[in-house]
Amino acid sequence: MPLSPEEFFEHAVAAADDEQRLPLSRMTGWDVSPFETEGLQVSRLRPPELPEPPRGGEDPAECTSCERRGDGIWLADHWRLTRIPGAGVPLVLMLHARDHHDLAGLPDDLAAELGVLTAQVARHVEALPHISRCHVHRMGDGAAHLHLWFVARPEGQAQLRGSWLVIWDDLLPEYPAEVADADAAVVVDALVDSYGGTRVVGTGGRRSDHPS
Ligand SMILES: [Zn+2]
Repeated sequence: MPLSPEEFFEHAVAAADDEQRLPLSRMTGWDVSPFETEGLQVSRLRPPELPEPPRGGEDPAECTSCERRGDGIWLADHWRLTRIPGAGVPLVLMLHARDHHDLAGLPDDLAAELGVLTAQVARHVEALPHISRCHVHRMGDGAAHLHLWFVARPEGQAQLRGSWLVIWDDLLPEYPAEVADADAAVVVDALVDSYGGTRVVGTGGRRSDHPS
């Protein structure tokens, strides 16, 4: 059985200094870290917060993702894809369940669809020129409604490898939106061909003539 919240905190804080700051290690020692260790310090470790604050959309009646179940650049019966604007990396896409599910409660038939879609979206993003990798993340600490991140790493930027990519994404200037929109459309066209579903054109939700 995992440690209780109190046991975990005691275990962690035992390795911290008098201000409950853990030492810098591992991630910041990695040569792709966006931060130099000089002058950097770890935030104080806070004690557990119980019960945890609710995530957005825990109540389906107040879930914003459910309200937007028809929004996106691509729609299928159970899934929708959106492009996250304002990113620093070339492309950030998000795959959402259209109905209110979280990952652990996903019925097996939808989990199977999610597996196929995850591979296909990553494949189409990595097929874009000058994209070396498509990272896939499922966090789920902000919103309860299932959503997966697809984050493209630009070719040649070896310093942006690995799990620091999302931090670099926040540091980089905004990538040209018109380029990202066009590349997202290429991914969507490939997804319509490989999986089905419908490409949605423009922010007004107009649909193209692609077969669904
Ligand atoms: Zn929802």
